[in-house]
Amino acid sequence: MRKTDLQRFRKMLLEEKERVSQSLAKHEKIIKHADDESGLETGKAHSNHMADQGSDEFQYETTIKFANTEGRYLYNIEEALRRIEDGTYGKCQACGKNIALPRLRRLPYTRLCIECKEKEEAGKL
Ligand SMILES: [Zn+2]
Repeated sequence: MRKTDLQRFRKMLLEEKERVSQSLAKHEKIIKHADDESGLETGKAHSNHMADQGSDEFQYETTIKFANTEGRYLYNIEEALRRIEDGTYGKCQACGKNIALPRLRRLPYTRLCIECKEKEEAGKL
């Protein structure tokens, strides 16, 4: 990969990392706040009143799910940045071939080429 491309991906990943970190911090605050307010015990008691609590709990669960997804995403971004540092970025981690640039532009944190990704999704990797 050309150095200019690598630098561009590095910049993209760093910006994305910053954005996701901030979004994650915001959601962690919401989750922590919800924990402080209800606590686990009262949370259980509230399940007797699902009609009243339903939307709050749904909101809470959605937030946790979102935070988990973002957390994994952040991890993938950090791994990609690490690969840029050690010079393996842009190579498929399964077959070792270069990942196509358009694919990297769309998914800069990807670690598999499209063929291996399809195999992985089909459970063949
Ligand atoms: Zn591959």
